Amino acid sequence: MTRVLLLGGTAEARELARRLHADDRFEVLSSLAGRVANPRLPVGDTRIGGYGGPSGLAEFLGGFDVLVDATHPFAATISRNAAEAAGRVGVPLLALVRPPWSPGPGDRWTAVPTVAAAAAELAGRTPARVLLTTGRQDVGEFAALEKHWFLVRVVDAPSGPLPPHHELLRDRGPYILESEQTLLRENAIDVLVTKNSGGDLVSAKLTAARELGLDVIVVDRPPRPDAVPTVPTAADAYERLVIGL
Ligand code: NAP
Repeated sequence: MTRVLLLGGTAEARELARRLHADDRFEVLSSLAGRVANPRLPVGDTRIGGYGGPSGLAEFLGGFDVLVDATHPFAATISRNAAEAAGRVGVPLLALVRPPWSPGPGDRWTAVPTVAAAAAELAGRTPARVLLTTGRQDVGEFAALEKHWFLVRVVDAPSGPLPPHHELLRDRGPYILESEQTLLRENAIDVLVTKNSGGDLVSAKLTAARELGLDVIVVDRPPRPDAVPTVPTAADAYERLVIGL
């Protein structure tokens, strides 16, 4: 029996939990940060809340044979902590990271390194109507931008400062092309701001922006820890775990 601690918060993590839960060779505990009020829960056992940094995670890892980091590509702290904790206690670590999006013909993308840089990029532009999809935790970066209007799409309402001219849209993917086009049109959006999260579930906004000829500001992913074996899909992660790390 291989005991797996699965750091989640993504659709890929839920898919891997489903596969491992259905396989007698594995015992899996999914781990969520507790950021979202009403999270989509994986099948099987789940724990919610942080570990108190890499030391706490290292201690918790004592009861496991493998650590899988299937957190969101922008959840940089937990990925760093996972690499440090796994290295400290000698537990093998596998990262499940969905591939990033890349621009195709017709896309009008401006890539920026951070969410703060996306705000700086917007600050230099003429007044625009912006669809902001970078998530609740980063909205504050745009709070000083007075000349733009923002449609702020979030799962849970932000607790920090918001831009002076905005409307909140509480919603959660997956999204389809038709409704994304309608949203962009009805709100007369000029610019889409998004993290390069990757995956199919929320990518319709990019296709819709391309078809409507809109500018897109894309925040590049933060760096990942070096030398961690990494796979792109839940199916690949499952295969690796079956073979053994
Ligand atoms: P983060 O900045 O990398 O992590 C901050 C702290 O949250 C970590 O130090 C850890 O606390 C705790 N934490 C994060 N993920 C955890 C997990 N899966 N299980 C237990 N504790 C966890 O993370 P974040 O960007 O706030 O993301 C939080 C969660 O939301 C992640 O699970 C991620 O997969 C998901 N998510 C993030 C984004 C995004 O854009 N960042 C988007 C969609 C989903 P301790 O140090 O106390 O252990």
